[in-house]
Amino acid sequence: MDEVEAAHSAAPAGDNIFARILREEIPTKFIYQDDQCVAFHDVAPQAPVHFLVIPRKPIAMLSDAEDADEQLLGHLMVVARKLAKEQGLDKGFRLVLNNGKHGAQSVYHLHLHVLGGRQMHWPPG
Ligand code: AMP
Repeated sequence: MDEVEAAHSAAPAGDNIFARILREEIPTKFIYQDDQCVAFHDVAPQAPVHFLVIPRKPIAMLSDAEDADEQLLGHLMVVARKLAKEQGLDKGFRLVLNNGKHGAQSVYHLHLHVLGGRQMHWPPG
């Protein structure tokens, strides 16, 4: 199944794999964690470095975030920036946030993708 098919068949509500990772039902090595978020490597990396930063709060997608989540959303980017440095992405990196069906979101727990270690291209697919 390609990523668009996966996105179209994803359930936009309810339990999901990232909720299970947060509940430690799926053993996952966190490269970072604090009281607001965790980060771990993507299981299907699309670049030499590809990790995800996810909030502990179960926000399904950016469209569902509230104004009160402003600090949390900013925190995810600050953590992404720090981890990108830690992971040696000194030549640059890309942040991706897929939102909903047309955004090709496949896991309905908000997450930031951080990709690096190779030249990125534009436009994305
Ligand atoms: P998205 O398509 O933006 O919803 O991204 C979901 C991402 O989660 C994909 O890049 C998947 O490869 C990744 N993923 C799914 N399951 C796992 C897992 N158990 N551990 C790490 N990454 C995962």
